[in-house]
Amino acid sequence: MPTARADVRSRAAAGARTTARSTVRSAARTTGVALLVLALGACGGEPGDTSPPPTDPVAAPTTPAPAPATTAAPPTPGPEPTSGPPQVVPADVATTLQGVLDARATAVLTGDREGFRAGLAQDGDLLASEDRYFVSITQLPLTRFSYRLAPESLVRTGDGYWGVVEVTTRLGAFDQRAVHTLDRVRFARAGTRFVVDSTTDPAWEAAHLGLREPWETGTVTAVRAGGVLGVLDDGTAERGPELVAAVAAGVDDVSARVPYDWSRTVVFYALSDPAFLAGLDEVPGGDPQALDAVAFTVPVGPEAGDDAIASTRFALNRGALDRLGRRRSGDLARLVRHELTHVAVGAHDDEAPVWLSEGVAEWLSVQAIAPEDRRVPARTLAAARAGALRLPAEDAFNDEDAAEHYALAWWIVEWLVQARGEQGVWDLLDAFTDRPDEDDARVVRQVLNLPLAEVARRGADLMARTYAPAVAEPTDGAPPTGPAESSPPTGP
Ligand SMILES: [Zn+2]
Repeated sequence: MPTARADVRSRAAAGARTTARSTVRSAARTTGVALLVLALGACGGEPGDTSPPPTDPVAAPTTPAPAPATTAAPPTPGPEPTSGPPQVVPADVATTLQGVLDARATAVLTGDREGFRAGLAQDGDLLASEDRYFVSITQLPLTRFSYRLAPESLVRTGDGYWGVVEVTTRLGAFDQRAVHTLDRVRFARAGTRFVVDSTTDPAWEAAHLGLREPWETGTVTAVRAGGVLGVLDDGTAERGPELVAAVAAGVDDVSARVPYDWSRTVVFYALSDPAFLAGLDEVPGGDPQALDAVAFTVPVGPEAGDDAIASTRFALNRGALDRLGRRRSGDLARLVRHELTHVAVGAHDDEAPVWLSEGVAEWLSVQAIAPEDRRVPARTLAAARAGALRLPAEDAFNDEDAAEHYALAWWIVEWLVQARGEQGVWDLLDAFTDRPDEDDARVVRQVLNLPLAEVARRGADLMARTYAPAVAEPTDGAPPTGPAESSPPTGP
C-alpha cells in the first residue's frame, strides 16, 4: 500500500515541474526515486580482481507513469463487480464495516493475533495469507495504523460488499509523517456480523496501486537497532544484524558531515525477492535490477501536498548483497554511505543537477576509507589523464558510461572541497535550492566564478594528479578493476 498510489500522484506533480528543471532531475529526484547506483564492481574492485565490470546503468529514465487511476482524494470505488442498476448501501452498513476495520487495526497495533483472526472469514487460504501479513506487519514499529472506509465506494457483491479503504501507517520515528494509501477489502456476512473475506483484488490493485510495500506482498523480517530498521525476507534475514550494524555505522559517518537537520533514522530494505525493486518507477537507467541500491521516497499520500514526503528510505539489490559479502564489507559500507547521503541530504538536492547530488554522495561515501584505498575505475583515470573526461548531459548521466560519470562527479566535489572547504559543497547545493529556475551552468558560474566545463576539467585534473600513473595502466588489454593506489588522494 504505502508507496503505491501516492507514487502516482507524486509523478504527476513532478511532471508539472519538468518544465523548469531537466528531465532527469524531475524524474529521478522528485518523484520518489532519489537514485542510485554505485558501480562498485569498478569503484571497489580489489587490485587484480578479475571479477567482471559492474553492470552499468543504462539509458535515461523514460518509464512512463502507470495508469493514472485515481489521483484525487477521497478514494473512489474500483470497477463494479456486477452490472445493473446502482445499489444503495445503507449508512448503517458502512458504519458496521468501519467497525470491522477498526477492530482489525486495533488487533494489529496491539499484536492481538486471535483478535485479528476473529475478524476474518474462516477460510484456510485467507487465514494463512492473513497470518503471514499479521506476522510481518506486527514486527514494524507502528505508532499509527488505521483504516478509513470510503462509504461511497461500497458495492454489493452477493451478501457482502467490496469497499475501498484508506490505510494510515506510521513507522514511529522512522517516518516524519503518517503515510496514507489505498486498498480494497471485501466484507462477507458471518452470521449476524461482518468479517473480512478478502484483501486481494488483483484487477483493482493493478489499476489503482503502484509499488506495494514488501510486507504487503510477502513475509518480511524486521531487524531494528536504534535508529535503523532493516526490512528483510527469508532469503536475506540471516544478514539482518550485519546489515543493520553497517547502516548504523553509516548513519554516524554521514551525520558527522551532512550539516542539514535530519532524523538520523532510516529504514532500508534488503530483499531476495526482486518484486519491490522491479516495481520502482522512473529509476535512472530504467532497470532497477541493474542498480546496486536505490534511495526512494515514501509520499505522504493523497491528502497532503504534492511534494509531501513521509520518509526517504533505500533498498539494497540482492545482486549487490551477494557480491558484497563479508569479504567485501568495506565496499558494502561504502554503498550504504552513498545511499545514506541521499537520505540525509533529503530535499536539499532536489534542485541540484544529478552530477552534484551523486558527486556529493560519492565523495561522502569514501571519507571513511583510507585515502590510499579510495579507488576510481582505471578507464576513467586514463580518460582524466588524457583530458577527455566531460560531464554528460543531465539525462545521459546514467548511460553506459555511468561509472565514469560518477567518478568525475566525485572528483569535482573533491576539487570543490579543496577549493572551498566542505562548506563549499553545501553552499553550492543551497545555491541550487535558492535558484530553482536558473540554468545549472549559470548557478555554478555565480557561485564559483567559473564555467561548469572548467569546474569539471579541474575535477578531472585533480583526479589525474592524485593517482600516480604507474599502476593504473592496463598491461594486458583488459580493463583492470583496480586502479592506481599510490600517491594517495587528498583526504581529511
Ligand atoms: Zn546516488
